[in-house]
Amino acid sequence: RAKKNSTLNHFWYSFEIEEKTLWRIELIRRLTSAFERRELELWFQPQLCLNSMKVCGVEALLRWPDANGKFIPPNQFIPAAEYSGLIVDLGLWVFREALRSARMLHAQGYKDLTIAVNVSIIQLRSNNFAQNIKLLLSEFTVDPSLIELEITESVVMDEPDVVIQSLHQLKELGFKIAIDDFGTGFSSLSYLQKMPIDRLKVDRQFVQEFTPDTQAHIAETIIALAHKLNLSTIAEGVERPDQAEFLKEIGCEQVQGYLYARPMPLSNLFVHLQNQNNSL
Ligand code: C2E
Ligand code: MG
Ligand code: MG
Ligand code: MG
Repeated sequence: RAKKNSTLNHFWYSFEIEEKTLWRIELIRRLTSAFERRELELWFQPQLCLNSMKVCGVEALLRWPDANGKFIPPNQFIPAAEYSGLIVDLGLWVFREALRSARMLHAQGYKDLTIAVNVSIIQLRSNNFAQNIKLLLSEFTVDPSLIELEITESVVMDEPDVVIQSLHQLKELGFKIAIDDFGTGFSSLSYLQKMPIDRLKVDRQFVQEFTPDTQAHIAETIIALAHKLNLSTIAEGVERPDQAEFLKEIGCEQVQGYLYARPMPLSNLFVHLQNQNNSL
């Protein structure tokens, strides 16, 4: 009887795995065709300097609208894109769109606005990544020091040497480099010395539960660590004024979150920036 049960359990177990795999394959198929049909969009979320309370930069975020006008969350499809390798082509498209948008924003007079682009470890490890980026850069003639690459260690860092070398090549091209979601995932302190980093991005989980001070201690420590290493900081996921006040107190330079603005299409961003200028 026991044996029969375990066979049954095994059956259900592999069935579950198979279901997940099938779902993932289906997701990749739909994502690939959405990408080929140019249905993906790049949106932008403002990043504010805490001393001026003005928008100093924006983060570019992928949006995949489904047939009902809703969006499939990046946290679902980015891992699938990484898993399948589609992230390499998709990431180049994101970069191109980001550079195109940067050129428009800078031409419209927002000359110092930085544009942060999320870059996956898989992209950094792909062949000729830096060379491809260099080609794009020459096509769009944007000042690379205004483009920040946000690196998240969402997948285990295989071949760390390749990744680190790729980051150095990008740094040599003039880009700024940030570690995204710092303090979560696999990111280890030893990378801080090996990678050419300009800024740490405090993960929103350390910002969200600020009142019980355990979480605040972590944010405070990350910011202190960054400053010791001559890095600047930005905190994501700021939703309440008290969080922003505390971040300012502990020396965080920039903030990003729903308190100020949600991600929006480029045309809305222009309106947002214009409104800010009018109200100053
Ligand atoms: P991320 O890079 O950490 O981006 C910040 C995420 O936090 C975004 O989620 C943003 O919409 C969300 N967020 C911003 N402010 C708040 C807030 O106040 N409260 C809360 N609850 N959330 C806030 P989103 O757009 O869903 O993206 C999720 C993740 O997907 C990103 O996290 C990033 O890791 C990945 N991703 C998005 N676009 C790209 C891309 O173009 N390339 C790559 N490789 N990854 C991307
Ligand atoms: Mg990011
Ligand atoms: Mg982040
Ligand atoms: Mg995050």
